[in-house]
Amino acid sequence: METLFWFRRDLRLFNNFALYDAIEQGAKHAVFYITPVQWQKHGVAAIQIDLLKRRLVYLGNLLAQHGITLHVLQADDYHCCVEQLTEFCVANQVKKVLANKEYEINEQQRDTQFVSMADKQGYSFYLYDGDVIAPPGTVTTKSGEMYKVFTPFKNEWLKQHQDSHFSFRAMPRTFTEIEWVAPDLLKSDNSSQKWPVDDESLSQIIQRFIDDKLMGYKESRDFPAIKGTSGLSPYLALGIVSTFQLITLVQQQYIDVLSSAKSNLFTWVNELVWREFYRHLLVAYPSLNRYQNFNEKYNAVKWRDDQADFIAWCEGKTGYPLVDAAMRQLKQTGWMHNRLRMVVASFLTKHLLIDWRKGERYFMNHLIDGDLASNNGGWQWAASTGCDAQPYFRIFNPITQSERFDPNGEFIRKYVPELGSVPDKQIHFPHKYLTSIGREADYWPAIVDHKAARERALDAFKV
Ligand SMILES: Cc1cc2nc3c(=O)[nH]c(=O)nc-3n(C[C@H](O)[C@H](O)[C@H](O)COP(=O)(O)OP(=O)(O)OC[C@H]3O[C@@H](n4cnc5c(N)ncnc54)[C@H](O)[C@@H]3O)c2cc1C
Repeated sequence: METLFWFRRDLRLFNNFALYDAIEQGAKHAVFYITPVQWQKHGVAAIQIDLLKRRLVYLGNLLAQHGITLHVLQADDYHCCVEQLTEFCVANQVKKVLANKEYEINEQQRDTQFVSMADKQGYSFYLYDGDVIAPPGTVTTKSGEMYKVFTPFKNEWLKQHQDSHFSFRAMPRTFTEIEWVAPDLLKSDNSSQKWPVDDESLSQIIQRFIDDKLMGYKESRDFPAIKGTSGLSPYLALGIVSTFQLITLVQQQYIDVLSSAKSNLFTWVNELVWREFYRHLLVAYPSLNRYQNFNEKYNAVKWRDDQADFIAWCEGKTGYPLVDAAMRQLKQTGWMHNRLRMVVASFLTKHLLIDWRKGERYFMNHLIDGDLASNNGGWQWAASTGCDAQPYFRIFNPITQSERFDPNGEFIRKYVPELGSVPDKQIHFPHKYLTSIGREADYWPAIVDHKAARERALDAFKV
């Protein structure tokens, strides 16, 4: 077993260049480590672990068709993983290990530790940047610094890539098909069943999005009752689909997509660049991995430690229908629409004045697409503590957000059925209406008054 491929959150065969290089160098074996204690520390959601396991079963079978054995092994945490993988390499006379980088601090430390083990044992470890188009550290100001504002970052990112014609690399010649049996470690609890894991279904989802939704994305992306976004985040989070694949496919259909950041078409690609921006930040500012405020001046904000309010938010019982519908969507499905993530994060950090770290953790524990860089970025954006964040004085009004983005209450009715018969006009804040018909007990009273909460947040942030 001279060459070994180490899978992490890059669970794909398609255009996985690190894997392709490993295959070209004769790799007939790949490994994946389940690390339950580490994942628990990181708060990884059970539904994401289920998706990962289901995908590994699919991947194991796919690799077997190409004559490659996937070894799925278990080590408590990254430290044990490095020790065990080193023993595995020594026992199997591995000379080379190839893998894709993960940019979070614990993952980087794991790799540094593995490099030193590899050095000691006399084998090599090669790392690739398969998760991004532009590797962290390559999109910088003239003086080599990380941008602290998204737009110039995006402009530089575009400058570097707008003339590139992305194209797929052919799969290398592989080996004779072998037998592979999924280990018990990959038993699914079926919580992620609604998300297909096979490449045929994923190709269809992507192609349908590009054909039918991409052009209208700018207009429909903010309406949670409409399926206007791609829904690909769980797959990007586990590297089942890559940004490279998506941009290549878009470019095949719309050759000029990268030539104008102002075009409607670019709006969606712009989100993929936000994803890269947050990854670059995580590497440039390691303290973000430790949940520090990006903007230290907000360290002085005195967050409220109100467990009852926090639970009401988690359970979708705040008395603000759009917030409640969103939080119930998260709990029931493991996913939440982006507009709603912004609304509920703003509500927690501004209206309830509860520390963004509590919300960030809760999201991570429940999201099927949980991802440290994007989650931290999104939360610090909403809390105004982040890089290029929402200014603290811009506080979303959950009622007007609801009127704008769920005008007929269609989304609210789906997740807050107790408001099913409330007329469209009243559904965004139904308390007066419910009282007028003697049905105030049907729904939760508002846990805060919008105006008073807004003033409290402004005072706290001004300090
Ligand atoms: C408070 C908060 C927490 C978030 N937590 C996560 C998280 O844990 N994991 C996660 O993948 N995204 C997170 N996001 C970003 C965004 O909400 C999701 O990526 C998006 O809703 C996924 O839906 P989609 O795949 O249909 O997105 P689309 O609109 O189709 O976008 C395509 C892809 O671009 C990326 N993307 C889109 N919006 C953003 C964004 N604002 N920041 C970074 N990348 C983006 C995602 O990978 C997404 O799949 C968070 C946003 C906020 C405000």
